[in-house]
Amino acid sequence: MPTLVEYADQMWTEGPTSDRHPWRALNTFEEVSNGVWFASSFANLSLIHGGTELLVVDPGATNNAERKFDQIRGIFPNLPVKAVVFTHGHHDHCFGAERYINEANENGWNSPEILAHPAINQRFNRYAKTAGFNEVINSRQFRGGASVGSWKKDYVRPTREISDPTELDVGSVTVQINPARGETDDALWLHIPDLETICTGDLFVWTAPNAGNPQKVQRYSGDWANSLLHMNELNARIILPGHGPPIIGKERVRDALVSTAEYLQTLEDQTIQLMNSGVPLDTILSEVTVPETLLQKHFLQPVYDEPEFIIRNIWRLYGGWYDGQPANLKPPSEANMAVELVRLIPNGKEALMERAVELAAQEEWRLACKLADIAFNSDPTDKETMLRRGMLYSERAKVETSTMTVGIFNSTAREMGILPDSDNTFSAQEK
Ligand SMILES: [Zn+2]
Repeated sequence: MPTLVEYADQMWTEGPTSDRHPWRALNTFEEVSNGVWFASSFANLSLIHGGTELLVVDPGATNNAERKFDQIRGIFPNLPVKAVVFTHGHHDHCFGAERYINEANENGWNSPEILAHPAINQRFNRYAKTAGFNEVINSRQFRGGASVGSWKKDYVRPTREISDPTELDVGSVTVQINPARGETDDALWLHIPDLETICTGDLFVWTAPNAGNPQKVQRYSGDWANSLLHMNELNARIILPGHGPPIIGKERVRDALVSTAEYLQTLEDQTIQLMNSGVPLDTILSEVTVPETLLQKHFLQPVYDEPEFIIRNIWRLYGGWYDGQPANLKPPSEANMAVELVRLIPNGKEALMERAVELAAQEEWRLACKLADIAFNSDPTDKETMLRRGMLYSERAKVETSTMTVGIFNSTAREMGILPDSDNTFSAQEK
């Protein structure tokens, strides 16, 4: 097995492949550079070694935080942890801090500070209020609706909220902690000038940025781009991302940060320009494009989120939910609309479904699925229509690239009584 540094080099030069997902977990804990350690996992842990004490960035998820703790203590049995930083409050990053607090109590050390953006508290409150919803949407997103697990709610809250750029000494190393908005409204990223290292959190994750996520709250493309450009000014040699291996080398770091910033910025600029001209969302979705040079970057592939969803999120941020089609302001129910359309067409439900299958054969998936939805909504108890609609979504999932889309389409197939053929590309990674 290659070392983490060798793997990081291979990923940068060759890019992810169909059997090498950018978020592949090595499950190792290795030194990247002097004083910079990294636990490669579904979401990564970074560790800064300051000589006499340690800084833990993103202790983990419920299914891996214990392993990461043991890996750290296998290498550094006696060094106290000065602080634990949450780069944001997503569940793959923010669990496991209690292990470090308990350990400090047992050893008579100072309890580690828990550093996070103040907005993480509102996030945790929201997660508690919408636990059922979050179980359902995460099951759809990651596992194609295969199972609904329990949504954990016992968070370790920050002991110190970082709302302005802040310096923290970790032994002999100074760490600069910066609040940001991007994938979330509660992001922190770290710069360690002495070690020429930046911990990006999920502001860089080796894929098209997760700025569009269809089932989640608002994301902030423009602020995100600005944070990446700010990082780029710092001339770092290493970035430790929230997901995927480290990037090592100044030119590589610059390319990763600047290209991702440009990707977000062009989507935001084009969308706002068209919004200012007064056109509806539908027009914007058909006109905004990402430049080919950015689409070619192996670390900007739409394997998790997609540019189309990012445009919708920019529209939502600067506009609202109304898409500019007047009938959609107060639309008929889906059922009423479907019944009316089916009534207009001889043998309506079957005719729509047959046309949907024909369109699918021509890879006109958008039209095909829309017609299948209308057929289904006209009579949601009809088993034959359910199965045909489920098959269609299962087939469509095979040609889609992003986790979001594959997950939602496979979950629809399951809801129609079809076991989807293709599994989400990275559900296997997550387990
Ligand atoms: Zn993450």
